[in-house]
Amino acid sequence: MAYNPIQFQQGMSLPEFLQRFGTEAACAEAVRRARWPGGFVCPRCNSGAHCIIVSGSRRLYQCHACHRQTSLTAGSLFGSTKLPLTIWFLAIYLISQAKTGLSALELKRQVGVSYPTAWLMHHKIMTAMATREAQHRLSGTVQVDDAYLGGERAGGKPGRGSENKIPFVAAVSLNDAGNPLYVKVTPVPGFTSDAISKWARANLAPGADVLSDGLACFAAVTEAGCTHRAEVVGQRKPRDLPQFKWVNTVLGNLKTMVSGAYKAFGYSKYADRYLGAFAYRFNRRFDLADLVVQLVVDVCRGKAAPERVIRHA
Ligand SMILES: [Zn+2]
Repeated sequence: MAYNPIQFQQGMSLPEFLQRFGTEAACAEAVRRARWPGGFVCPRCNSGAHCIIVSGSRRLYQCHACHRQTSLTAGSLFGSTKLPLTIWFLAIYLISQAKTGLSALELKRQVGVSYPTAWLMHHKIMTAMATREAQHRLSGTVQVDDAYLGGERAGGKPGRGSENKIPFVAAVSLNDAGNPLYVKVTPVPGFTSDAISKWARANLAPGADVLSDGLACFAAVTEAGCTHRAEVVGQRKPRDLPQFKWVNTVLGNLKTMVSGAYKAFGYSKYADRYLGAFAYRFNRRFDLADLVVQLVVDVCRGKAAPERVIRHA
């Protein structure tokens, strides 16, 4: 088998991770740096002057200007949790390292919490990943393809217009040598010109050069200031064509993730999270050690969300 430098890269071992984030104090310091990189900022009045009040094991930041007391995790994704930060950080590590994704059930076993707790942690961490992924746009040469979650071929392409499937756009930007740089996998309401126009405005930089297999709706990327080339494939499926090699590789990886780690999840409810988490990991595949550190920062900066919002109840 060919040596693949991405698969053989060093990454960060569990002992290394624990050495860095294995104590409550180390985790708290990481949260503090991520949330307030320039020092404490009062969430009520934006003032920086403060003192620290220690009561028992709690440390509260008290603003000199308005006297509001703020804990390190108030308003954050960790906010309402009673779990130690070390458990959260271990979950972040495990999720960051699982190449084909990690199920909530596996997380429950590995960090020793109840299933509902593991499920919530998993979804909160994936939400932080998806939020971060939503912020960047693809530029340059971009291969796009239409695909469905929940088909006979999960993550694949069971046939356009299939019912009860979640349609999503898979897009890969390429460098000058034709190798993949970044992916975006985004649920869309359907493959209509209107949906693709909206998708392109949110996900592509103006000037991107889009290559599709000629599905009519993709011409709408021009409404977002992009150019569009249609490669009409006739009887051949795009996955067979070298022009679509990378977008098909991404769809293949996605299929492995869905069938391996998740089996069936609530496609319609949570597709954006699972796809966002997939893209997050793929886009940082060249530096797995940095991926862990980046995910720590992104999760620490994640905003609080009530459980009913996370569950879409
Ligand atoms: Zn204040």
